[in-house]
Amino acid sequence: MNIHEYQAKALLRSYGAPVSEGRVVLKAEDAKSAAGELDGPLWVVKAQIHAGGRGKGSFKEADAGEKGGVRLAFSVEEAAEEAKKMLGRTLVTHQTGAPGKQVNRIYIEDGSDIENELYLALLVDRATSRVSFVCSTEGGMDIEEVAEATPEKILSFSVDPATGYQAYHGRRIAFSLGLKGAQVKQCVKLMGQLYTAFIERDMEMLEINPLIVLEGSGDLKVLDAKVAFDGNAMYRQPAVAELRDETEEDSKELEASKYDLNYIALDGEIGCMVNGAGLAMATMDIIKLYGAEPANFLDVGGGATKEKVTEAFKIITSDPQVKGILVNIFGGIMRCDVIAEGVVAAVKEVGLQVPLVVRLEGTNVEEGKAIINNSGLDVIAADNLSDGAEKIVKAVKG
Ligand code: GDP
Ligand code: MG
Repeated sequence: MNIHEYQAKALLRSYGAPVSEGRVVLKAEDAKSAAGELDGPLWVVKAQIHAGGRGKGSFKEADAGEKGGVRLAFSVEEAAEEAKKMLGRTLVTHQTGAPGKQVNRIYIEDGSDIENELYLALLVDRATSRVSFVCSTEGGMDIEEVAEATPEKILSFSVDPATGYQAYHGRRIAFSLGLKGAQVKQCVKLMGQLYTAFIERDMEMLEINPLIVLEGSGDLKVLDAKVAFDGNAMYRQPAVAELRDETEEDSKELEASKYDLNYIALDGEIGCMVNGAGLAMATMDIIKLYGAEPANFLDVGGGATKEKVTEAFKIITSDPQVKGILVNIFGGIMRCDVIAEGVVAAVKEVGLQVPLVVRLEGTNVEEGKAIINNSGLDVIAADNLSDGAEKIVKAVKG
């Protein structure tokens, strides 16, 4: 689960991390008074969307102006003006994809004078099953590009969960970032605060790009913050769960989560309904093998009810990109007749505009096939997985 920058900063501030003063604006008419509550002389007006690269992004609408989603302003009036231009407009960055994201919230921040931009991240390293720090002197840039072109400029190491964060971890980061004197102590403290927040709040990733050195004082400050939480931990993080902004999420994935379905939207044209994550992956692979692309990953699970299957099928058919559907069930705990009833109920409710291939095997397969055959649905039956994939790709691509 992701949150907005301003929410991430408020959270990090509660752990003592240095962040700028700022105000969130939802309506254009509130922008001026929000900006007026900040000291100036520099204001930063930042589009709040769940995607990075806002500064280098651009708006689809001409009246949003030429600048990206992070704008500097030198008066309260100018800050309010920039906020108005961005609100309600569509920001496209390299992380949003071509459709972009509508900007519904603006964060106006007290501007900082920057001496140096650094990169810092904490994340769960799945290879070591530990929390890793990643840092680089190349802040404000795409870390993927830095990793590609100059990997020697990135330091990464993991923290032993038995000892947790230790001051030497922070010193190692400070020295690799070229920090000196009082900055080293600040860095040790800040890394400890970030690590504590990461663990206590069940974060999956915490990226601060950039972490800055302030002009003049040389102090450290968190200038940008991107946080992703472990969705499976939200049951014990009610305060974090409240920060969820559903307008930022894929509507189909949101619907699926209400029914506890394992659903991920993808870009292809073949909708898939499968039981078991492994079979779902294999189904996606074999669709690709026959020359098409899956429109989704969907594992209806072992104990799915007819209602759950119906909802799953409705989510697939609601995707305008779906040009054909492949139902691939290997019945074990999941019974083929339950799947068949769900499919038939969903089609009765919402209709079926695209070809449907069904492959059923395993528990109650005869009952399942009978339900489909007696339903009057225009279904293409398949004998096995590759037969099913071949048939649906042929039906869609001709
Ligand atoms: P992102 O583009 O989505 O990663 O948004 P960031 O919050 O990282 O902002 C992008 C860039 O805007 C930063 O790398 C800075 O160069 C610049 N920026 C952001 N805030 C300030 C600020 O307070 N003062 C100045 N001078 N520049 C800023
Ligand atoms: Mg950034």
